[in-house]
Amino acid sequence: MTQTGAAAPTGPLLFSAAPTVTLPVAGTDARFPVHRIYCVGRNYAAHAVEMGFDPDKEPPFFFQKNPDNLVRTGEFPYPPATADVHHEIELVVALHQGGVDIPLETALDHVFGYAVGLDMTRRDLQGEAKKMGRPWEVGKAFEHSAPIGPLVPASAIGHPNQGAIWLDVNGQRRQAGDLDQMIWKTQEIVSYLSGLFELQPGDLIMTGTPAGVGAVVKGDRLHGHVDGIGDLEVVVV
Ligand code: MN
Repeated sequence: MTQTGAAAPTGPLLFSAAPTVTLPVAGTDARFPVHRIYCVGRNYAAHAVEMGFDPDKEPPFFFQKNPDNLVRTGEFPYPPATADVHHEIELVVALHQGGVDIPLETALDHVFGYAVGLDMTRRDLQGEAKKMGRPWEVGKAFEHSAPIGPLVPASAIGHPNQGAIWLDVNGQRRQAGDLDQMIWKTQEIVSYLSGLFELQPGDLIMTGTPAGVGAVVKGDRLHGHVDGIGDLEVVVV
């Protein structure tokens, strides 16, 4: 991005800039540089109902995580200031083209590929924030809150709009759904979001979670899966 009306900034950095967060891409050693992480709330009817909401009455709504919340280590350190951390298995959409007011018909052209991700949530802090009408960052955008697997290019698999999405904890099925249950489809999310924000190459969108969210404890082994995209295994440490 250029700074309007100002000369290009010069001078040494006061300290090292944070490294660019990247995701590996299946089938290549090229990496996907991450810009923002957008998340869709309550995008599966059964999950909206389990959280106490009527799924029929809501336009999509969004929150964000920070790019450096993304973890690739296979470990999720149990975060501070909470006693109720939940798993949310999600399909992650990765954009290689940005834009504003992207039409529905061409929205999928902006999608580079897909990954399996976890929207880890400090549910107690999120619940408090909801009750007080406060923002969700403390519940959603904390360190290590976005474990995400490797990207699979759409050029290899197309744009999945059906297929199983599930999460096992210690070998027990906790969450199960199908991508065809998404209330707002990938192209609708990209188009709608581009009316609110200027999307950029490198943006990730976590598309919401099916029913069955629940608490994790240290030592839990999470195994998430989306048909056609792959698996994500994370240990709570
Ligand atoms: Mn979520």
